[in-house]
Amino acid sequence: GYSNVAAAEDTITPPVKVEHTQLLIGGKFVDAASGKTFPTLDPRTGEVIAQVAEGDVEDVNRAVSAARKAFDEGPWPRMTAYERSKILLRFADLVDKHNDEIAAIETWDNGKPFEQSSKIEVPMLARVFRYYAGWADKIHGMTVPGDGSHHVQTLHEPIGVAGQIIPWNFPLLMLSWKLGPALACGNTVVLKTAEQTPLSALLVGRLLHEAGLPEGVVNIVSGFGPTAGAAIASHMDIDKVAFTGSTDVGKIILELASKSNLKAVTLELGGKSPFIVCEDADVDQAVELAHFALFFNQGQCCCAGSRTFVHERVYDEFVEKAKARAIKRAVGDPFKSGIEQGPQVDSEQFKKILKYIKHGVESGATLQAGGDRFGSKGYYIQPTVFSDVKDDMLIATDEIFGPVQTILKFKNLDEVIARANNSRYGLAAGVFTHNLDTANRLMRALRVGSVWINCFDVFDATIPFGGYKMSGIGREKGIYSLNNYLQVKAVVTAIKNPAW
Ligand code: NAD
Repeated sequence: GYSNVAAAEDTITPPVKVEHTQLLIGGKFVDAASGKTFPTLDPRTGEVIAQVAEGDVEDVNRAVSAARKAFDEGPWPRMTAYERSKILLRFADLVDKHNDEIAAIETWDNGKPFEQSSKIEVPMLARVFRYYAGWADKIHGMTVPGDGSHHVQTLHEPIGVAGQIIPWNFPLLMLSWKLGPALACGNTVVLKTAEQTPLSALLVGRLLHEAGLPEGVVNIVSGFGPTAGAAIASHMDIDKVAFTGSTDVGKIILELASKSNLKAVTLELGGKSPFIVCEDADVDQAVELAHFALFFNQGQCCCAGSRTFVHERVYDEFVEKAKARAIKRAVGDPFKSGIEQGPQVDSEQFKKILKYIKHGVESGATLQAGGDRFGSKGYYIQPTVFSDVKDDMLIATDEIFGPVQTILKFKNLDEVIARANNSRYGLAAGVFTHNLDTANRLMRALRVGSVWINCFDVFDATIPFGGYKMSGIGREKGIYSLNNYLQVKAVVTAIKNPAW
């Protein structure tokens, strides 16, 4: 049933050159202190795109010194909020100007379709910066009524040097959700990109400086988790760490923060989000949305609708149509137009997903579509659909992070609420119904940070995002993420003569 096998084999030359592979520290591109580099690979072929400077403890120390100096002595936290806002807006304009160049780097390094990087992710990077540029001059404290003869006020101050560790699935979006609020609030930053996708952030770093960002405000360290990442989480001179990635590493971050200087921690972690198709559903529409909810971004979304619960009344029809839709999914070179799905990010993810698929078959789920690699080179995987999935199968409990849809049958709302909530995760949920009472009931009962009703993956800059339970701590985006990057100072001044 797959018509695109040939397409996976012939690979387009990316329409872009890699300009930046060094670390960005104190406003300059520099080699790693050790001189070491690591290769970043093209997931379409497994071939090397470029050698990238490999940051380690010493580089993180240098980056923190630069960020500390920029915070303690530099203009950034001291300039007017309006000036900061203008720099962020100028950066967003440069992102627009370089849209396709940034998108091509992203697609090359990550494997996601160019149509999506250029029309979704890069425009969202600009959008998030414009949103937070708007906040820069609207962050202020309060005047508070005290009990005595005091004038009481609060100052909302930047927290200081922020460490930020991001994953590879949405390198630019994750960067924007972290840099946007940190910079709007006047902080300085040491950002570590994922080792699979170091390239796009370095281009962003150059554009930030072109926009007038003072040196040392944003420092970017490429490198690995247990070395550069751990150095950030355990640094004594970083005031706050924000992390997105796996739940296992999230626990390590929290531990390193507590063992070092008790830096503030926010975490965006894994998920196993339910997508609930209710009995009144128009099956064609439900299939399309559930397909998008799972397969978008090669299934590499922390909030992917990876447990598709379908009411028994529409179950058989849904399974047939979900299978047909998966088989129709256009897989191939992400630089080609019309392609919906590119390769997975690397061989580790590729192998892990194939292992889960094997597990699904062995545990007795029915393989409806896919089940194997796609083509014979690179990290492509066939869009895969399992039906007859039971709640305790590994494919229904673990985050697969790939193009594998698992369909489960349910009978009534009480049951599906209990089963949907029976997960260590609580990141997101999708609800498909036009029954208002059903939607209201589910929306309140689901223990998750985002509920999408008759839609999915709506990521406007204004909407808070984050997890319940082991899906994380704190919220990003919207007004909610400003608090992650602010300290509140209470100032109490004695009033000599309160009787005015
Ligand atoms: P990961 O959690 O290992 O990596 C995420 C980031 O953390 C990377 O920058 C990595 O270098 C860094 N890191 C890793 N170990 C670290 C450590 N000990 N100290 C500090 N930083 C460290 O995720 P992964 O290995 O790329 O993917 C594994 C799984 O994580 C995926 O299969 C998926 O289930 C999940 N994941 C979730 C998200 C998300 O958005 N929530 C993103 C990527 C991966």
